[in-house]
Amino acid sequence: MADLVAFHQKLLNAYGKPFDLHINDNSSSLITLRYSRSGTPRLSVHHLFLKGGDDIARGLAQYMRNPTAGCRETLRSFMDRHTGEIQPRAAAARRRILRARGRNRDLNAMAAEVNNTYFEGKIAAHITFSSARARRGAFRNISFGSYDSKLRIVRIHPMLDKLDVPDFFVSFVIYHEMLHALIDPQHDADGRRRIHTPEFRQREMRYPDYERAKTWEKQFLDNVSKGKWPQK
Ligand SMILES: [Zn+2]
Repeated sequence: MADLVAFHQKLLNAYGKPFDLHINDNSSSLITLRYSRSGTPRLSVHHLFLKGGDDIARGLAQYMRNPTAGCRETLRSFMDRHTGEIQPRAAAARRRILRARGRNRDLNAMAAEVNNTYFEGKIAAHITFSSARARRGAFRNISFGSYDSKLRIVRIHPMLDKLDVPDFFVSFVIYHEMLHALIDPQHDADGRRRIHTPEFRQREMRYPDYERAKTWEKQFLDNVSKGKWPQK
């Protein structure tokens, strides 16, 4: 599944607009297209499509714009060539989702801004809200974000989509996770793997809103521990 990022990028290039990508192992519906309330396409494809070339990316992009006979034919012949690789439905229920559009925030736009402003646009990672639910009382050991170095995906906790979380804090979390894409973990003297190396912390503190973000985070966690959040 390491090709997910490359595949998503190819599709983005071909389609030219944001969409949500869903990879499934469902052998009975290899391609499904739905739309979110805001009209963003939500494309779900079987993971065998990750092997597809540019013709498949163009075919899927066309399928999202308007499913013509031509693109259906391209996709069908690809599927026919690969049917032997399709696992029975029960074999795996793994699903991997890239969902960058929240109700209030577009992570793709925010990530692009952070990437361009602080990393010269060089961070080649994708971003998504994680599927964790923002449950009341579940914030004690909160992880605002994470970075998956294998799939090169930044995952952001869905509560950061809420409007009472300020943009500067969300951008800071994105910056932090992007730093993980840039700075490799190291093993310290007793062999422990450290992801927040001294170099990482120095670089993190260079973020212009660092103090403001840390102050907000502390206040937020205080509020959470006092049961003052989430507000609704
Ligand atoms: Zn970290």
